[in-house]
Amino acid sequence: MDGKSLPFTSDQIEQIAARYPTPFHIYDEAGIRENARRLVKAFSWAPGFREYFAVKACPNPYIMKVLKEEGFGSDCSSMAELALAERVGITGESVFFSSNNTPAGEYVKARELGAIINLDDITHIPFLERCAGLPEVISCRYNPGPLRGGNHIIGHPEEAKYGFTREQLFDGYRILRDRGVRRFGLHTMVASNELDPDYFVDTADMLFGLTIDIHRELGIRFEFLNLGGGFGIPYRPEEKAIDLEYVSAKTRERYDATIRAAGLHPVNIVMESGRMITGPYGFLVARAIHRKNIYKNYIGLDACMANLMRPALYGAYHHITVLGKEKLPRDHVYDVTGSLCENNDKFAVDRLLPEIETGDILVIHDAGAHGHAMGFNYNGKLRSAELLLKKDGSVEMIRRAETLDDYFATLDFSNL
Ligand SMILES: *Cc1c(COP(=O)(O)O)cnc(C)c1O
Repeated sequence: MDGKSLPFTSDQIEQIAARYPTPFHIYDEAGIRENARRLVKAFSWAPGFREYFAVKACPNPYIMKVLKEEGFGSDCSSMAELALAERVGITGESVFFSSNNTPAGEYVKARELGAIINLDDITHIPFLERCAGLPEVISCRYNPGPLRGGNHIIGHPEEAKYGFTREQLFDGYRILRDRGVRRFGLHTMVASNELDPDYFVDTADMLFGLTIDIHRELGIRFEFLNLGGGFGIPYRPEEKAIDLEYVSAKTRERYDATIRAAGLHPVNIVMESGRMITGPYGFLVARAIHRKNIYKNYIGLDACMANLMRPALYGAYHHITVLGKEKLPRDHVYDVTGSLCENNDKFAVDRLLPEIETGDILVIHDAGAHGHAMGFNYNGKLRSAELLLKKDGSVEMIRRAETLDDYFATLDFSNL
């Protein structure tokens, strides 16, 4: 048995592939909307709850538009992401600008949009003041360092390049207060792809405690707390998705015991998740073009790590379904490869799958976050198209595939 379900049938994909050649990414609009609503509903108790979608996970304006319709803002961290949000009509305080090592021009753009700026370092206070002026509302990113245990992707907080130390945070807010900033937020992001729900409750609790300490010392009342992103998704069929209702209920208990008890209610609770918003609802669809049997057995696809590099980059597991063979036994062991001249260009290593013939369509699951977005052009590989499977079952191309002309667009051959 396959272990993971799909929002489309084998026949549907064959029809789509007749129109849009493989490989392509396809996103499930109904799934994205339903998941977005589940998140908002779970946290409906929280004052001013808002999710700012971390654009880097899936920087496609059509996906951002769907999420805007669900009430989400955008979490941006670069000039291009700010520009994308602007093009989708997401501006002002619907944009959370959480960057690091930020170039001056990006602060200028963020100020122009009226975005909420989240500072990554205490030295960014005078830097921002010089290049764009201090806004009325500001947030700072907290790095708890050794006060907090690690997470396998982001690593131990004390090894992470992000954020203020605890001491710097107090100094930073004091400076900001004295320079006339009037509205304050506090941010942290200490996990990535974390599946332990209690990790998120502990993170919220950590910020609640800090909120009280900062209020006590500086008299600052936070308007919002940004719990960051980092919700994991079950890439493996045997993994369990985060129970949002559990995280929400436990967070609420902590909120009442800390913020409310200290008389600091209401503080808005916001998030900036990326992976869990689109990850499970995107699929990389590719065709087997070669079978090669040497010391191991290989299935070569018409996609490569330019379309999805997580397996090559992190050794990440992405589930694979061979369309039309979902019910067949997984009794063949394959490496599923791309065509890059890099031996790590593999979607799966020693994977048990049903017997695969050339021409079979393989669907690689959970490619909706950090999939197309991480694409690159090494070896002259071109990025694939992105399609949206709409609520009514129709399909819209929301980004065409790259062509050689795109690849060569920055070259001037006339001076050769
Ligand atoms: C990547 C990132 C996010 C989103 O993280 P996910 O793991 O995709 O939820 C949020 N905030 C910041 C600052 C990030 O860098």
